[in-house]
Amino acid sequence: MTALADWMQQCGLDRRDAQVLVAAALGLSRAQQMAHPEHPLETTDLARLNVLASRVRAGEPVAYVLGEKEFFGLTFQVGPDVLIPRPDTELLVECALHRLDALPTADSPRSVLDLGTGSGAIAVAIAHARAAVQVWAVDVSDAALAVAQANARRLLDPQRAGGAIHFVQSDWFAALQNCEPASRFDCIVANPPYVAQGDPHLAALRYEPALALTGQHPSPTGLDDLRRIAAQAGAFLRAGGWLLLEHGWDQAAAVGALLTAQGWEAVSSVNDLAGIARVTAARWPQKVPHAPKIG
Ligand code: GLN
Repeated sequence: MTALADWMQQCGLDRRDAQVLVAAALGLSRAQQMAHPEHPLETTDLARLNVLASRVRAGEPVAYVLGEKEFFGLTFQVGPDVLIPRPDTELLVECALHRLDALPTADSPRSVLDLGTGSGAIAVAIAHARAAVQVWAVDVSDAALAVAQANARRLLDPQRAGGAIHFVQSDWFAALQNCEPASRFDCIVANPPYVAQGDPHLAALRYEPALALTGQHPSPTGLDDLRRIAAQAGAFLRAGGWLLLEHGWDQAAAVGALLTAQGWEAVSSVNDLAGIARVTAARWPQKVPHAPKIG
């Protein structure tokens, strides 16, 4: 019978990926795997592990092979219809919580809109961390919304004070024009498609939906959706509300400039753990300088 350690040696995966597959397939924690390298693999276990390993060797992300990914301390179900939540994006959630907490107390409940929710990771993480906040989440993809709704059902308390997340099928703000009462949000967050058309990284991301990476209309800069959101978000925010955008490693200056040009104030970027400016925040002014440009 094959011992666990021998399979690890022969499977052709990096150690961390192999451990994650073994943990998921056999229910053995990493600590147990390290304590018992001699653990014998039954024929059925071995067959199952080999199928999973061959998918990872072919380039499929471990998260899709397992059907799940941890984000902000929660385990989200993921599949090919949604982007795999990245650790970098936890920064966006932290920034949103920080801004919500800093708002003056109000009579009405606080509200957040997540644009392009995908797996629902951002919306659900915020709803989970702040039970009283009302959360809205939109995506243009029905398939993505189904994943997000399932994650919300599994991960959120049905009795949470802010209620269930309002999921809306919408191309950015298009379907929100008539949504009352929460059409003026305290905070709008988005991890939109921002990868430039032809970016060499796209080859490594080929299992993930192009819709979430380069968007419906791929552009040479990857900035089109960020620009569209910056142009429209002010009309959906309360005065003094915040827009928080995730963007690419080299896009902070461009995103800051387009926000400033659209009349946003207090524009600033926040670094991720790798020291890369990854999220740019901007406040919608108390006195609107000009009507936001839609389009
Ligand atoms: N952060 C992702 C990547 O570069 C891209 C996500 C996005 O376009 N929103 O892998």
